[in-house]
Amino acid sequence: MSLDHVSAIVSILGDASRVLTHPQVVERLSRDFYWYSPVLRKQLDGKVADLVVQPTDAAEIQNVLRYCQREDVSVTVRGAGTGNYGQAVPLQGGVVLDLARMDRIESITPDGVAVCQPGVRLGMLETEARKVGWELRCYPSTIVKASVGGFLGGGSGGIGSVAHGGLRDFNTVRALEAVTMEAEPRIVLHKGDAVHDILHAWGTNGVITRIWLALTPAVEWSQCVVGFDRFDAAFDFSERIATDPSLTKRLVTTFEWPIPSFFTPVKQYAPQGKHLIFFLISSQQLALLEEAAQDAGGEITYSGAYSGLRTLPLLSDYTWNHTTLWALKSDPAYTYLQCGFDPATVRDQMRQLRDRFGQEILFHMEFMKNGSGQVIPGAIPLVYYTTEERLNEMIAFCRDSGVFVANPHVNNVEGGGRYRADNVQLLAKQRYDPKGLLNPGKMITFRAEEVAATGSSR
Ligand code: FAD
Repeated sequence: MSLDHVSAIVSILGDASRVLTHPQVVERLSRDFYWYSPVLRKQLDGKVADLVVQPTDAAEIQNVLRYCQREDVSVTVRGAGTGNYGQAVPLQGGVVLDLARMDRIESITPDGVAVCQPGVRLGMLETEARKVGWELRCYPSTIVKASVGGFLGGGSGGIGSVAHGGLRDFNTVRALEAVTMEAEPRIVLHKGDAVHDILHAWGTNGVITRIWLALTPAVEWSQCVVGFDRFDAAFDFSERIATDPSLTKRLVTTFEWPIPSFFTPVKQYAPQGKHLIFFLISSQQLALLEEAAQDAGGEITYSGAYSGLRTLPLLSDYTWNHTTLWALKSDPAYTYLQCGFDPATVRDQMRQLRDRFGQEILFHMEFMKNGSGQVIPGAIPLVYYTTEERLNEMIAFCRDSGVFVANPHVNNVEGGGRYRADNVQLLAKQRYDPKGLLNPGKMITFRAEEVAATGSSR
């Protein structure tokens, strides 16, 4: 990128300290956690931006985008860079727009809606919300570091999803404002169903600058670990608890042995050979859960009060995609898939996978509520990676046996499995980013030439 662009952007912001060009800094802020995938590692290693810009408000973003639109400079938005799909990795250089400085919680309304800027860390929002009797409906296991804007841009759900579904469900994202990448960038408000135009579009069709996020009343939680000698017994018990509507829970995660052996800091709660379930359950119902677990033949290896994100051990640190991180620490050959099993045939589906792939797949189940209110066995199974062909064979086998796969080894919105069949994200990109400069290459059904040929972006 020419030095002219750098000095133009410095003069737009009026503050050189927020335009970063040091190669090591730019490289660090061009990366995310794509390296969980050996396939993406090959594709994305070495992709870097030319500079990083750190705006502090929406007006500055409008000014930067106006300049970049005119000069054909691509812009990739970054929250905290904890995504796993290489969502925040700039494929064509240009500007990384780092929103970490836009970290203000404006308010938490009396009816439980947080209004905030995109750079607010989810952990901060959870802590502040709990002070006034609310908490997040769902959050990724990266809660401490990840930003609210990045969760909307690239995340899907996590802890809490067993009760409240994913981020896209149940009107959790009430509204958002985004800045467009038009010749004259606008701030557009999307509310109700229209949030789905921008949600999980990886920052390809607007820069989210303000968020209205619905919360849920805070609960006094406890953590509990239960071990079983057989995986099918562990799975049966976890399913029973997850699907029991009378129990208030935030997390039901089931790990096949040897996955618990990877969790070195909590090894004392993971007896050799035991298949474990990690629970976050309302403190009032902890005794009930413990009694039911013992009746079902389970051994309680840990239980204790949860007092926020500093609680030790913090069981959520081993769940969702943190499980993959612990496996990778133990053996870098591990990678993962993101699956949705059919609640009616899940046991059969798991058996087929085991018969075909043996220990190449290890079951890590995460129960979550779907958009219709049914609690289903989601999964982030570990996969012992050998070749890309073998990985694709496993994905095809899953799909043939009715297991939904959101493929985490692709670097585009469409391939990841959360693309909207009604094309609303693409239509928004055509309207708001007609030149295709926002996170280029990540929405592969978009064609700038087609938008230009139809004449108008509106
Ligand atoms: P980033 O990685 O910075 O950005 C994500 C995407 O959103 C990028 O495409 C970026 O361009 C876009 N974006 C960022 N900010 C904006 C904005 N303001 N406007 C428009 N687009 C924007 N994810 C889950 O959903 N659930 C999990 O349980 C989970 N567990 C994880 C565990 C580990 C160990 C790791 C490494 C990742 C995990 N993830 C999980 C993925 C990721 O941590 C979350 O999705 C997180 O919410 C992303 O937030 P971020 O601020 O890091 O976003």
